[in-house]
Amino acid sequence: MTDAQGNDLGAEIREIIAQEGPMPVERFMELALIHPTKGYYTTRNPFGAEGDFITSPDISQMFGELLGLWAAQVWGQIGAPGFVRLVELGPGRGTLMADALRAAKAAPEFYDAIHVDLVEASDILAEQQRQALSGCGRPVSWRRSVEEIPPGPAIFLANEFFDALPVRHYVKTPEGWRERLVGLDEEGALTFGLSSEVEPYLKINAPDDSVLEIGAAAQRLMTRIAARIVIENGALLAVDYGYDQTTLGETLQAVKSHEFVDPLAEPGEADLTAHVDFSALGRAARAANAQTFGPVTQGDFLREIGILHRAEALKAHATPEVADEIDLALARLTGDGEGEMGTLFKVLAVTRRSVENVPGFAGDDAAS
Ligand code: SAH
Repeated sequence: MTDAQGNDLGAEIREIIAQEGPMPVERFMELALIHPTKGYYTTRNPFGAEGDFITSPDISQMFGELLGLWAAQVWGQIGAPGFVRLVELGPGRGTLMADALRAAKAAPEFYDAIHVDLVEASDILAEQQRQALSGCGRPVSWRRSVEEIPPGPAIFLANEFFDALPVRHYVKTPEGWRERLVGLDEEGALTFGLSSEVEPYLKINAPDDSVLEIGAAAQRLMTRIAARIVIENGALLAVDYGYDQTTLGETLQAVKSHEFVDPLAEPGEADLTAHVDFSALGRAARAANAQTFGPVTQGDFLREIGILHRAEALKAHATPEVADEIDLALARLTGDGEGEMGTLFKVLAVTRRSVENVPGFAGDDAAS
């Protein structure tokens, strides 16, 4: 299938499968999202009302500003190092980091210590980020992966990043659990199938056709970042659509123009995500000897770090229409109604074990 941009990722994936055999869901998802020339993120700017989805930094400047102030406080709690990397994983349009840096100017010692590192797989989005951060007043470096970030204390921010990392699926059959693969049907179209081999170490008892979704890439990355925080000092804040207890079931979904679509229909043309298993991420961080805070809901986190005050301060200088918009954004970010993000989104923080507290998690005891 070739679309208007000549983007024939589906054809390339079918060709790979014809030559090498069916591929795990994980490889399919990674190709669909960040194939260097034909992936979803590498060929477009997907954000905003005109795009496929809207994220918190697009909803309101308050989101990035509050995360910038969170980073400033955490910087103090980790010993106020004179040089600190402020890292964002998957910065999208760069809005969050621009808002965070503007707010961080209120803490000049922190602001002056910052080197910005943006981990981004897409050149198109890196260019957007360059524009958003031109004149931000701090040095900015782009990295393809976390491994490329030079050593030193680092505060990591990740909003809707872990949900873009590829997942593995295992399906229960009468003989045991088998990995779900993407293969070709009789007409040569992409279709889901199962590995001929049973996973010998997966022994969970569940009804046939149950699905186990494992965010292996997210867990590996969390292990690396947590280990780095333990050795080099720093912190991480992850905000994402997700759940706080590991359970059976699949959450892989494809979204195009704000609608759900078939994940196999047009690879590279729809956003693919899976909800984040925050309990698995927490275990990965603690196994690396780091400390975790949360997960708490996005609504609780944002209220605790002062979103109500920030909204009042912005409204004090706003026209009635703008004041209404601020109230709407506040509800969208913190509410628990239909289409609101306050409880669907969760927030997890990671630090060294010696850190006593970080803002936003007062209702939650540190898990280790
Ligand atoms: N944080 C932004 C964007 C979220 S979308 C916001 O809240 O608006 C996911 C972002 O992660 C995009 O910038 C995408 O290009 C990037 N991305 C996805 N997978 C990636 C990977 N494996 N490595 C690096 N960046 C990735």
